Amino acid sequence: MANDRKSEMEDVLRRQRSAHHQTRPEPMALRKDRIERAIALLQDNAEDLCKVMSADFGSRSPQQSMITDIAGTVAFGRYCLKRMDGWAKSDKRHVQFPLGLLGAKAEVRYEPKGVVGILSPWNFPVNLTFGPLMQVFAAGNRAMIKPSEFTERTSMLMRELVAKIFTPDECAVFTGPPEVAAAFSSLPFDHLVFTGSTATGRKVMEAAAANLVPVTLELGGKSPVIMGRSADFAKAGERVALGKMLNAGQICLAPDYLYVPEDKQDEAIHGVWQGTATMYSSLLENEDYASLVTDRHFDRLQAMVADARDKGAEVIEVNPGDEDFSSTNSRKMPLTILKNVTDDMQAMQEEIFGPVLPVKTYREIDEAIDYVNANDRPLGLYYFGSDRGEQEKVLNRTISGGVTVNDVVFHVSMHDLPFGGVGPSGMGSYHGVEGFREFSHARSVYTQPKVDVAKLSGLKPPYGAKTAKTVKSMMK
Ligand code: NAD
Repeated sequence: MANDRKSEMEDVLRRQRSAHHQTRPEPMALRKDRIERAIALLQDNAEDLCKVMSADFGSRSPQQSMITDIAGTVAFGRYCLKRMDGWAKSDKRHVQFPLGLLGAKAEVRYEPKGVVGILSPWNFPVNLTFGPLMQVFAAGNRAMIKPSEFTERTSMLMRELVAKIFTPDECAVFTGPPEVAAAFSSLPFDHLVFTGSTATGRKVMEAAAANLVPVTLELGGKSPVIMGRSADFAKAGERVALGKMLNAGQICLAPDYLYVPEDKQDEAIHGVWQGTATMYSSLLENEDYASLVTDRHFDRLQAMVADARDKGAEVIEVNPGDEDFSSTNSRKMPLTILKNVTDDMQAMQEEIFGPVLPVKTYREIDEAIDYVNANDRPLGLYYFGSDRGEQEKVLNRTISGGVTVNDVVFHVSMHDLPFGGVGPSGMGSYHGVEGFREFSHARSVYTQPKVDVAKLSGLKPPYGAKTAKTVKSMMK
């Protein structure tokens, strides 16, 4: 079965690559047409896509899906359409003196790689499939996609829609269990983009290594929120609440834990509590608040809270409507704040990826910086405060994929900023010109002048005085 699927995928890869070779360098008009078709697919089927995402999650606000998965992706596609002519221009580069005077030329051409594989997760199933696709197309590639098995209805609908508007040699979607994803990641693509967990990312990179396929890994991690003493704690709490409660915390960039001044802990927690209650008067009976995607994900978070409680954490449930969460199997969970956390708790050891928010405290900001540096490089890092000196200290002394200052998550929504992680939170990036370059091959082209440069500079045997002169001038 898995072998059949693998040979089916290998066959499509062969066909895509052959079509690509025929069409190279894939004219800009064709690339734009592909992006426009992808945009039209999203716009024309927005309602249906939002419906299936809701069904896959159990409950997920269609308005939220419109913002995060449809409109955000369409806007990104339009941004690519506007910028791609500029991105695709070749770069003139310098040649060493005196080669320029002799007519030598050097340039970098950004050329399509060929066929790019896209492996996407379930948390923003449409955005994280079509987002990379826009830049894969912009750079003149063809695409094969394997979306997540957890959001099966959405994956099936994407497969059906893609088959309607793209030929299989332009773009094809494959659905199925993790074995299909594993087989997919072992195909000899020209590039592979994976969005998902660090653990699976490791397997994907291993599989890609067998064929030396270059990878972009968009992974997760524990993105800290550092609140400085100068922060407006009410406003910061409100913003953290929005970023933490969106998609019920199932966001790669969700604020994972707070680091706050010891004497401001209660104020900071109150800010988050208040921010949550203002947005959601209730959670269980509220369509705006998403469910956790599967029972397994729900049980993992319940166990994480129980583990923290057992090990001495104080557990604060933010339950604005005073609802009885144990009475349903809707997989909804209130925001659960954990005070007095310690490093041996599960909540401080793995990415949370749900509505649980540990709070750590510091006396000096350096403790927060040291803590971040002692742990895996996070995908995002957030600083709240008006002290510019402290802000720069936090930014300069830590490493993360990206940063939002005085808010959370938002840097990913800036189309022109590269988005990606570092180390365990990922490698490579897309969005901005960097995304176009990620999916392009930067090909160096040097044109030699008519004169015999090698002879002129003594680089050709028989070596002699000219050689010695050139060697000397090279080392000046
Ligand atoms: P996951 O790693 O479980 O799955 C992601 C994809 O990998 C799925 O499509 C799945 O089919 C596939 N897969 C499963 N087993 C595989 C294998 N052995 N080989 C190859 N592929 C395999 O991740 P998830 O649970 O779907 O998503 C949540 C994780 O993704 C979180 O860690 C989150 O932080 C991360 N994430 C990162 C970003 C980002 O842009 N950096 C965005 C969203 C989610």
